[in-house]
Amino acid sequence: MKKIGIFGGTFNPVHNGHINLVKGFKEALSLDKVIVIPTNIPPHKQADGIVSAEDRINMLELAFEEYDYVEISDIEIKMGGKSYTVNTLKKLKEIYPDDKFYLLVGSDMFYCFEKWYKADEIMSMCTVCTTPREEYQDEFADEIDMLYDYQLYIDPTDTHSKIINIPIIDVSSTEIRDKIRNKDYDVPTCKKVLDYIIKKDLYND
Ligand code: ATP
Repeated sequence: MKKIGIFGGTFNPVHNGHINLVKGFKEALSLDKVIVIPTNIPPHKQADGIVSAEDRINMLELAFEEYDYVEISDIEIKMGGKSYTVNTLKKLKEIYPDDKFYLLVGSDMFYCFEKWYKADEIMSMCTVCTTPREEYQDEFADEIDMLYDYQLYIDPTDTHSKIINIPIIDVSSTEIRDKIRNKDYDVPTCKKVLDYIIKKDLYND
């Protein structure tokens, strides 16, 4: 039985926060493999301004080129329509029937987990793993405490979820898109991804 991390997102574009998260979970959970899955149409977000699936996949391939345990998957792109995690997990179970799944999510996604489509079914199929993103701290509590509180609420037996404190890099794809639009190329992603963005003239609307 292998331990497989599953990391979905828009990746518009992939950035150092994503790379850091994959590395951190791989080490903390001793994962054998991490499958990175760009979403087709994200259910939680506005689809405007998202570059093509092909561009997002190409940037992910460049960012994770040297990580032999990472596979970039077009499973959600191929399924088409809105990308619901429960459906993705069912498809992956057909491919990896004997392996154990760890769903990797940033805390922004974890905090709305109860609203995810078929959240209970998702929890029955994998361990939901999260790590703090600093901007979600409030003035009264450290984010790690807030995460434990929320975990108790969605997973009272503490058996289907895990909180791991990976030192985060406080960046977002939005920040990168804004900078590129303003011709500021000092962006928190790897050089190969930046070169690709410039060459294809992405995020320059
Ligand atoms: P946007 O700025 O466009 O909303 P984003 O930077 O949040 O995008 P996504 O592709 O939506 O990136 O995120 C995919 C996954 O990565 C989510 O689970 C999100 O919580 C997580 N994530 C994004 N940025 C970070 C970060 N800096 N540290 C830890 N996790 C992150």
